[in-house]
Amino acid sequence: MAAKSQPNIPKAKSLDSITNDRTASQGQWGRAWEVDWFSLGSIIFLLLCAPFIVYYFIMACDQYSCALTGPVVDIATGRARLSDIWAKTPPITRKAAQLYTLWVTFQVLLYTSLPDFCHKFLPGYVGGIQEGAVTPAGVVNKYQINGLQAWLLTHLLWFANAHLLSWFSPTIIFDNWIPLLWCANILGYAVSTFAMVKGYFFPTSARDCKFTGNFFYNYMMGVEFNPRIGKWFDFKLFFNGRPGIVAWTLINLSFAAKQRELHGHVTNAMVLVNVLQAIYVIDFFWNETWYLKTIDICHDHFGWYLGWGDCVWLPYLYTLQGLYLVYHPVQLSTPHAMGVLLLGLVGYYIFRVANHQKDLFRRTDGRCLIWGKKPKVIECSYMSADGQRHHSKLLVSGFWGVARHFNYVGDLMGSLAYCLACGGGHLLPYFYIIYMAILLTHRCLRDEHRCASKYGRDWERYTAAVPYRLLPGIF
Ligand code: NDP
Repeated sequence: MAAKSQPNIPKAKSLDSITNDRTASQGQWGRAWEVDWFSLGSIIFLLLCAPFIVYYFIMACDQYSCALTGPVVDIATGRARLSDIWAKTPPITRKAAQLYTLWVTFQVLLYTSLPDFCHKFLPGYVGGIQEGAVTPAGVVNKYQINGLQAWLLTHLLWFANAHLLSWFSPTIIFDNWIPLLWCANILGYAVSTFAMVKGYFFPTSARDCKFTGNFFYNYMMGVEFNPRIGKWFDFKLFFNGRPGIVAWTLINLSFAAKQRELHGHVTNAMVLVNVLQAIYVIDFFWNETWYLKTIDICHDHFGWYLGWGDCVWLPYLYTLQGLYLVYHPVQLSTPHAMGVLLLGLVGYYIFRVANHQKDLFRRTDGRCLIWGKKPKVIECSYMSADGQRHHSKLLVSGFWGVARHFNYVGDLMGSLAYCLACGGGHLLPYFYIIYMAILLTHRCLRDEHRCASKYGRDWERYTAAVPYRLLPGIF
C-alpha cells in the first residue's frame, strides 16, 4: 500500500518480443531502462504539480470549508488573489517542526530498536525476521517485521494520553495540520534526494540499481531497489508503513476529537470512516509479511514516488474524509449508514480473501485448498540477472480465476464506502475513489506489462485462462 501519483510506465526494451527465453528475459523484468517522451512529460508534470494538488485540497478545507471550486471561483471573479490565499495559509512553526521530528524519531526507534514480540503471543500472526522475494538481481533480503507492534504501542500511548496523562490535546494533529504539511514535504524531498544520491554513490546492492539515463525518471521512480542503512533500516518498508500508515488512524482519531470539540458530538459518519479505515490499517500491519510480496516492495524502486508519496500524499489525501467531516458533521440515516458499512465490509472481505488466496498458494507452493478444492495452476519460469532460472506458479482458482486482479475490486469497494459515508454535499471526499480507480487500473496495466516480460508465454497462457483484468465481462 503506498501513496502514489504514478506516471505512465515506459516500455522496457525487453518487451519488444514477449518470450521467456534466456536472452530476452534475463534480468529485464524489473522497471524500465528507457523513457519515452510521454512518460517524461507525465513525470515532470507530477513532480511540479503533486505538491500543489495536496496543498489545494487542504487549503480548500481550511479556507473554503472543503468547497473545491471555492478558490478557483474567487480568483476568476476577482474576489481573491493568489497572494491573498497564500497570506492566509499558516506557515511552518517551531511547534510543528518539533512535533514532526519527535514523531518520525519515535517511529524510527520503534522500527529499529524493538525486535518483534507480537508473533510470540498472537496466534496466527507472522512477524519477526522474514524473507522478501527474489530481486531481479537474485538477492533475497531479510526484514524485521514489527509494524503491528509499532502500531499497537503508538496507539496505546495515544489513548493513555487522551484518558490519563493529558500531555497534549487529541486535536493536536488537526490543530497543526498545515504547518505539519510543510514538515512532511521537507522530509519527503529530503529522503527522495538522499535515496537518489545514495543510489549513485553508495548503493546497498549495486546489481539491483537501474539507471535510465534520464535524471527526472531516476529521481521519480528511484535508482536503488532496496536502499538500506545498516543491516535492518530498509527505506521501503519503513516509509511505506510508518510514519504514514501508523499515522493514518491517529489522524482520523484527531479529526474525530476536533469534531466533538467543535460540534459537541461525533457523528456516525465519522465513526464509520474511523472504523472502516482502521480495519484496513490493522489488516496492513497484521499482514506486513505478506506485504513483502506486493508490488511496492517486490518491484518498485525507491524514489520520489514512494519517498514523497508516503510522507505527504498518503497521510494528507487518504484522510480527506475525516477532515471533511470536521467541517461538515454529516449524520447519516440508519439505512445509509448500514449500506456504507455493508459495502465497506464486503469490499474488505474480497480484498482480504483474494490476497490471502494468492499468499497461501505461493507459501504452500500450490499444496492448499482454494474454495475447498485443489487449485488450478499454471506452471511458469523466469530468469534473474545472475542467469539463474527460477520456477513459479500462477493461481487460476478462487478470485484469481474470476479476474486477474479481483483483489483491486475489493479495495475499490472499500474506498467507495469511505466516500459515501460523507454524503453528497461536496466533491472533495470523493477524490479518494477517483484516485484509487486511476491508481489501481494503471497499476493493473503496469503489473501485467511486467508479468508479461517476466513470464513470457506462460503469462499468455494465464491471460487466455482468465481473460478479464478487473471485472468479468467488462474490463
Ligand atoms: P498483487 O498483490 O495483485 O500482486 C501482483 C503480483 O502477484 C504480480 O506481479 C505477480 O508477481 C503475482 N501474481 C499475479 N497474478 C498471479 C496469480 N494468478 N497467481 C499467483 N501470483 C500472481 O498487487 P499489489 O501489490 O499491487 O497489491 C496488493 C494489495 O494492495 C491489493 O489488494 C491492492 O488493492 C492493495 N494496494 C493498495 C494501495 C493503496 O494505496 N491503498 C496501493 C497499492 C495496492 P510475481 O512476480 O510474484 O509472479
